[in-house]
Amino acid sequence: MAWSRFKKKKNMPGGLWEKCEGCGAMIFRKDFSALKLCPDCGHHFSIGARERIELTVDESSFNELWADVSTVDRLDFVGYAEKIDRTVGKCGNNEAVLTGRAAVHGYSVAFGVMDFAFLGGSMGVAVGEKICRLAELALAEGLPLVIFCASGGARMHEGALSLMQMAKTCGALQRFHEASGFYISVLTNPTTGGVTASFASVADVILAEPGALIGFAGPRVIKETLKQDLPKGFQRSEFLLEKGQVDRIVPRGELRNEIGKLLAYATGGDPVAVGAVAEDAADREAE
Ligand SMILES: [Zn+2]
Repeated sequence: MAWSRFKKKKNMPGGLWEKCEGCGAMIFRKDFSALKLCPDCGHHFSIGARERIELTVDESSFNELWADVSTVDRLDFVGYAEKIDRTVGKCGNNEAVLTGRAAVHGYSVAFGVMDFAFLGGSMGVAVGEKICRLAELALAEGLPLVIFCASGGARMHEGALSLMQMAKTCGALQRFHEASGFYISVLTNPTTGGVTASFASVADVILAEPGALIGFAGPRVIKETLKQDLPKGFQRSEFLLEKGQVDRIVPRGELRNEIGKLLAYATGGDPVAVGAVAEDAADREAE
C-alpha cells in the first residue's frame, strides 16, 4: 500500500514531532527546552553526550582527552567496521564515551559521558580503555570522578573482549577507591547490561534521572526466565531507590547543582555556597 512507505520513522517529514513515552503526547520538537523534558508529564527524553556536557559542566570547561581512542575490529565481525564508520560519521565522536577534564561549580573533575547514539552506548574495548584512563587520571591528579552512564550493555561485536572491560574498569576504579578517590555515577535512561554490572554501579554516590530503565538483563528476558509477572515499575529509578541500589533520584534540571554540592561535600568545600549560586542563577532565569 502506498502509505506503507511513510510508516518508517525516518520517512516522516523532517521529524518535527516526537511522541512522549511517558504520556503519549506529541511534542513539537521546537518546543523542547535544552533539558528535553515532556512539557506535560516531565518525561526525560534521551539527550546527546555533548548536550549533556553543556547542561552539566561550567561553560567551556570541558577539555576532551583521548578522542582518538578508536574501535579495533579484532574479531573481524561481519559488517562491524562499516557500522563503526557510519556511526562515527553520524555522531562526530570516535566511540560511545567522551572523556576529559572539566569543572562543575568551579570544582575540577575527571568527567565522562556516554553517548547512547553511538551503537546504543555499548561498551567495547575502546570504551573500557577510556573509562580506565579517566579513573587513572582522577587517581594521578587527585580529582573527583563523574560519569554519566547510558548504555545497552557490552558490545556483542567484540565478543569476550567487550566483557573483559567489566573487570578492567572495575579494577581501575578499585585502585581509585583504595586511594580514597570520590566517584559519582549518574544513571540515565537506559543503563543496562555490562555497564550496570561494572563501572556504573561501583560509585560512592549513585544518582539517577527519574524514570530511567536501569538493570542487567531486560524485563522481557527476566519475565521469560522466571515465568512470572514482574512488579510494577520494575527496573525503573524509583524502584531501585526503594531497593537501595540508587542513592538519589535527581531531575535533569537539578543535576548540575546536586553534583556541585556533592563535590563540595567530598572535597571540603562549601555546599551552601553552591546552593546559593544555584538559587541566584534560578532567580536570574525567572526574571
Ligand atoms: Zn509526556
